[in-house]
Amino acid sequence: MQTWLFFLLPIAALSGWLMARKHYKNKYQPQDNKLSPEYFSGLNYLLNEQPDKAIDVFIHLLEVNSETVETHLALANLFRRRGETDRAIRIHQNLIARPTLNSQQRSQALLELGLDYMKAGVLDRAEQLFLDLLQQASPPEQAIKKLLRIYQQEKHWEKAIDMAKRLQPEQRKDIGILIAQFYCELAQQQITSSASSIRGYLKQAQHYDHNCVRASLLEANMQITAGKYGKALKTLQRIERQNHRYLPEALPKLLNCYQKMGNIDGFNSWLQQLVERHPHMTSARLMLTQVIQQQQGSQAAQEFLYQQLHTYPSIEGLHELLLLGQGSNQSLIPLITNITNSLIDKGDRYSCQNCGFAGKAMHWHCPSCANWGSIHPTEIHLSALEKLLEPSS
Ligand SMILES: [Zn+2]
Repeated sequence: MQTWLFFLLPIAALSGWLMARKHYKNKYQPQDNKLSPEYFSGLNYLLNEQPDKAIDVFIHLLEVNSETVETHLALANLFRRRGETDRAIRIHQNLIARPTLNSQQRSQALLELGLDYMKAGVLDRAEQLFLDLLQQASPPEQAIKKLLRIYQQEKHWEKAIDMAKRLQPEQRKDIGILIAQFYCELAQQQITSSASSIRGYLKQAQHYDHNCVRASLLEANMQITAGKYGKALKTLQRIERQNHRYLPEALPKLLNCYQKMGNIDGFNSWLQQLVERHPHMTSARLMLTQVIQQQQGSQAAQEFLYQQLHTYPSIEGLHELLLLGQGSNQSLIPLITNITNSLIDKGDRYSCQNCGFAGKAMHWHCPSCANWGSIHPTEIHLSALEKLLEPSS
């Protein structure tokens, strides 16, 4: 069996070579013959950095030979990438004016022209071109995506929602999160108008993203304004299930609700359970300290926080503790040393000036944004604090 194969190999190779030769002859030889001297003079202008002369030559060529559409598209894209949008626009407009283009080429050229206008910042023209493309039987997905981007830029949320819903299912990964944000934007725009329309938007937001924390916060705001503190409380506590990292945004509102309802004890026990469920949530621990201070006075609050900070050190906690004891207590010194030690251990010594990446080791090539030489040592060895300590201008 294997010897057979061995003898077949040279025959296969020969027939492959013959096929390829025939293919290349058919495909490239006739076209090579068609390339006129003008083509090369255009190329020459281009290489000699005389783009406008090159464009003149290529546009004239297009009139003679419409088979060079791909070349024109490539050339115009090159200009757009270099930021020379007026040249890209000129080529694309000229392409579109050709009656010989087939429908696919025309729609491609229209799309490209729209991208030129977008890059040039002429958004209304870009929008119109993309909208025209949407009238086609099978509109290009790119047009929908670009319109989605334009409407976000112009804060036309209804239109943005419409575009997001038109995306093909395979393009719609996480689109629900986006649509929910757009509905929240609408709700915020309407903040002075009727409550029912805002509620409608927030309902839509929750429909598209069950975990939309922003919608919950906005809904709670409305309930607080209407004096419905019990309802607001439930809405805000829902955030723990949605994404507990956002709970710090809800805590001051929760305090307000519990206070209005005269149930600060209820808040205390809810916070105790919350801290058990999320031991590293500093904001919850600080809120609990505040509640203890209200209920039992400063001494009790200090003792609670002092104990907590040994296990879960934090700068904010230390700051709060110093405020509670007016910074005079000598017994705080070991705790302070403990906290500064742990911050220096955990803190990032290096940070990227380009993207904000922070790490403990020196990299000359940023692992996050791939910039060279943008990572600097942070002088105080705590990149997070560096920003806070910068003199304000
Ligand atoms: Zn970086």
